[in-house]
Amino acid sequence: MGNPVQTASVLGSPTTASPAAEELEQALYEVRRKVYPRAVHGWFAGWRWTLVWLTQIVFYGTAWLEWNGRQAVLFDLAARKFYVFGFVFWPQDFIYLTGLLVVGALALFLFTAVGGRLWCGYACPQTVYTEMFLWIERKIEGDRHARMRLDQAPLGARKLALKVTKHGAWIALALWTGFTFVAYFMPIRELAREVLTLSVGGWETFWMLFYGVATYGNAGWLREQVCKYMCPYARFQGVMFDRDTMIVTYDTGRGEPRGARPREADHKSIGLGDCVNCTMCVQVCPTGIDIRSGLQYECIGCAACIDACDQVMDRMKYPRGLIRYSTENALEHGWNVRQMLRRLARPRVLIYGVVTLVIGGALVASLYLRVPLKVDVLRDRASLSREAEGGGVENVYRLQLMNTQEAPHRYRIRASGLPTLAVAGADEVEVPAAASRQAPVRLQIEPGMAEKGAHKIEFEVRALDDESLVARENSVFLVR
Ligand code: SF4
Ligand code: SF4
Repeated sequence: MGNPVQTASVLGSPTTASPAAEELEQALYEVRRKVYPRAVHGWFAGWRWTLVWLTQIVFYGTAWLEWNGRQAVLFDLAARKFYVFGFVFWPQDFIYLTGLLVVGALALFLFTAVGGRLWCGYACPQTVYTEMFLWIERKIEGDRHARMRLDQAPLGARKLALKVTKHGAWIALALWTGFTFVAYFMPIRELAREVLTLSVGGWETFWMLFYGVATYGNAGWLREQVCKYMCPYARFQGVMFDRDTMIVTYDTGRGEPRGARPREADHKSIGLGDCVNCTMCVQVCPTGIDIRSGLQYECIGCAACIDACDQVMDRMKYPRGLIRYSTENALEHGWNVRQMLRRLARPRVLIYGVVTLVIGGALVASLYLRVPLKVDVLRDRASLSREAEGGGVENVYRLQLMNTQEAPHRYRIRASGLPTLAVAGADEVEVPAAASRQAPVRLQIEPGMAEKGAHKIEFEVRALDDESLVARENSVFLVR
């Protein structure tokens, strides 16, 4: 990587190692070279900040929304109920979460195949929080050169004041983030009251601090190292790339040979390419790499270097796009944008697109058609089959009724599948809003209506106040 490295001899003490042994010295880890990204403005920076605002308004704001007199989005782990606006999900609804994760993964594959590391560059929490922490850092310590000078300066009153202010602001933002995270698991107003009265419970305190420290550490200190060394996606996203994937690229053919020149010079006549070697693209890079060295796994595709280089091209009165989104094929064959876009309809993209649409569509349809009533039939093993009054046969069951609507309902229970099969005794059950209730149910048939053995039957549970609210469940009726 060209950075200083810590070394360790693999053959005894370094002081006694022979030249041959010295050649075997291995780098154990790379010492971090601190990156001081320069502020950048432009089209892509605008998009990145739009995503920062959007994602953070959703994250910090949603926890405060109310719905039906309760928090709109609340994952109530103790009650094992997840509230998401008008929906109440139970552990039995885990399939929806699975579907959502599958669609999310497929969408990630799709976007990566089309546009490279779009997620990393614009929407990943690591990028978003680093951007916010960097903004605070710039406001307090200044831009790149001011920060570099400050770090090199000896510790004095000014440096101490700036560092304390910066870390104070970072910690405040990190703790607010931790507070918001926990507020998705317990009502935010209750949590706020507990925080203000210093009566927060143990686990809430732990998770607020844990999430806050993770935010502070990742966005304030580790930054690009999370992307380079910790993120698994950075490691495997390469397999989703092909020669038609849009990536941030430097146009070597146009830029080289690079070199400084007077602004008014005819650089072609003095044998230079369009790159003025100003290193602005390197200075704005949050991972500290030089995009002119080609595609590197450290590149998170944030396009900061595109914005920076475009501004240089404007000043030099050269066409924009020396660094741009392009594909390997487009660069090699000199394709224009239309030719490049034509390659969007390639098998990999089509397959990802169709599968994402199908599974996403199925998920939306199943949510739309979801009946807010679930019924589980549990047989009463203590009395599987017995003789009823009058000589008939009786089976006893327990029905678990789950009302996933936020209104109470009264349900009528019926059964079918055998002649004269009917519920004996009470056949109605009241279930409160977003609650479940177990109901013992006795089914009877008249004498001689069924052979000995197990017979398939069906329970039907229907709300009295809403005919469309019905759930059916199969079971077995035993005759001995
Ligand atoms: S910003 Fe553009 S002109 Fe400046 S060094 Fe980078 S590629 Fe060359
Ligand atoms: S090389 Fe460019 S796109 Fe890649 S991380 Fe650096 S600034 Fe962002």
